[in-house]
Amino acid sequence: MTLLEGSVGVEDLVLLEPLEQESLIRNLQLRYEKKEIYTYIGNVLVSVNPYQQLPIYDLEFVAKYRDYTFYELKPHIYALANMAYQSLRDQDRDQCILITGESGAGKTEASKLVMSYVAAVCGKGEQVNSVKEQLLQSNPVLEAFGNAKTIRNDNSSRFVSEHLLGLGQEEALKLERDTGGYAYLNPDTSSVDGMDDDANFKVLQSAMTVIGFSEEEIRQVLEVAALVLKLGNVELVNEFQANGVPASGIRDGRGVQEIGELVGLNSGELERALCSRTMETAKEKVVTALNVVQAQYARDALAKNIYSRLFNWLVNRINESIKVSTGEKRKVMGVLDIYGFEILEDNSFEQFVINYCNEKLQQVFIEMTLKEEQEEYKREGIPWVKVEYFDNGIICNLIEHNQRGILAMLDEECLRPGVVSDSTFLAKLNQLFSKHSHYESKVTQNAQRQYDHSMGLSCFRICHYAGKVTYNVNSFIDKNNDLLFRDLSQAMWKARHPLLRSLFPEGDPKQASLKRPPTAGAQFKSSVTTLMKNLYSKNPNYIRCIKPNEQQQRGHFSFELVNVQAQYLGLLENVRVRRAGYAYRQAYGSFLEREGVEKVLGELSMSSEELAFGKTKIFIRSPKTLFYLEEQRRLR
Ligand code: ATP
Ligand code: MG
Repeated sequence: MTLLEGSVGVEDLVLLEPLEQESLIRNLQLRYEKKEIYTYIGNVLVSVNPYQQLPIYDLEFVAKYRDYTFYELKPHIYALANMAYQSLRDQDRDQCILITGESGAGKTEASKLVMSYVAAVCGKGEQVNSVKEQLLQSNPVLEAFGNAKTIRNDNSSRFVSEHLLGLGQEEALKLERDTGGYAYLNPDTSSVDGMDDDANFKVLQSAMTVIGFSEEEIRQVLEVAALVLKLGNVELVNEFQANGVPASGIRDGRGVQEIGELVGLNSGELERALCSRTMETAKEKVVTALNVVQAQYARDALAKNIYSRLFNWLVNRINESIKVSTGEKRKVMGVLDIYGFEILEDNSFEQFVINYCNEKLQQVFIEMTLKEEQEEYKREGIPWVKVEYFDNGIICNLIEHNQRGILAMLDEECLRPGVVSDSTFLAKLNQLFSKHSHYESKVTQNAQRQYDHSMGLSCFRICHYAGKVTYNVNSFIDKNNDLLFRDLSQAMWKARHPLLRSLFPEGDPKQASLKRPPTAGAQFKSSVTTLMKNLYSKNPNYIRCIKPNEQQQRGHFSFELVNVQAQYLGLLENVRVRRAGYAYRQAYGSFLEREGVEKVLGELSMSSEELAFGKTKIFIRSPKTLFYLEEQRRLR
């Protein structure tokens, strides 16, 4: 590895001098322009999306990286994958590879590269091969169902797929080939240059077969997906009850008829479920008619619900089949592709929970990084240097505290009888957190004791580690409630379609307890908690992905755009923590070869604070010293 800042900048940002936000971005830019998309921060990999195929992923590269240790070659995703794989194999430690970044930054591509690397280097043998094959084949399946073309990414990991339309299947599923015919498919984004839907559909089918889906299962999955598309085309219209109260109905019965035939559902039943709502009290059942707006909302909620349940089912099904073929569970390497910190013009509940997750990830990240540093110092017998860093525990607490956190307040408001609204929720927050250093709103004072007039009355602001975000409380209550009306889950459960019905177990009237299902916020918090536990129990490896421009264009690097992402990813803080003690360390052997010695160090008047001699490694405090040594070596 070249250490000196040359024409390609430093390969490890820990060695950056001076260390500032600007120099950090400039270094990434310099490298990007030389097609060096990877840069380290210690053992964290920063990857800038090249938007072009680089000739650095072939078997030759695989072979090269498997034979060297982390810092010996140029920064590469294979070096990180190799480090994780070796630690899994030799130290028997479960690994987790955490990939973060915003939409289009290259997270999914990175996870594929890691998986294909591991597949290429891990042992041979029939069983290994079949697991490998299943793992690799899980990608096209999850992508077909989980991805969509969005403005930010042609192949974004989202819901709703279009690959389903192909290969004569439209016949059996009664789907139209023209994607413009489906309300849930956006006609502007339904095709992608260079993507062949028919070919992709074949890939999907064969992938599902390899993973071990039966023909019958494949058919059922496609039927449920078709059901979602058809639901989108069910047109709801205004109707009025005899007493003049607005109600709703279905314009053309053929749509629901078709759905009924597809999944074995009585069409009258479906119409009733979409257009009315049953409220149960202890004594009686009251059926109210939904107006057309409410009915449309119910229809869309149902479609989204079916789709996400189907997706989860697929993930579980794939994991199961892989588990079965590996026998009982042994060592694990998890690859996690997580959406990064998000600040939009209007931030709502979705941004709130995603940013909460990122706040937690940052916490684990800092804690684990420091822990690892501390352990290395201990191993090497070097005194630990205290590191000043920003502890974001206070922000995590503000959001997740069991009794007094924002999520707890939201749940309390959702469950409270009487008139609740987004504004009563906000009033409560304002009252409770008026003095909190990371909470601001129009009616509370900020740290400078000023009222903030730039914020709407229906907003609150959180000072996240990555920056301030203003959230609008509109619809927080509804989104948190996110209940699928029981009428809908019961209707789905009544379908004679085995897969569909299994996706709605709570629709079984025998199961229907009066206990309320957990709120969306509570569910999210519990999955974040599970994720954190999982991370703490594994050895984490980090990949930070960056999108260089908004146009999905090769070679173009927007300083502004990258600057914002670097801030959200906390890169500068990351470098600071990494080099808080000693920026650089190297095993004596290679260090001696390289520098030719302790004698030299004696000759060069070096301050003793700059160096520490550990048991197996030499530690150098600042990059300046390292560069000075390199320079001296050259002169000799
Ligand atoms: P989302 O959050 O929307 O799912 P993402 O971070 O998963 O986005 P990807 O789908 O991985 O983004 O990447 C977007 C596109 O960028 C890819 O389809 C590919 O064209 C290109 N790309 C990403 N990484 C690489 C790479 N290493 N080499 C070549 N092209 C890449
Ligand atoms: Mg993705």
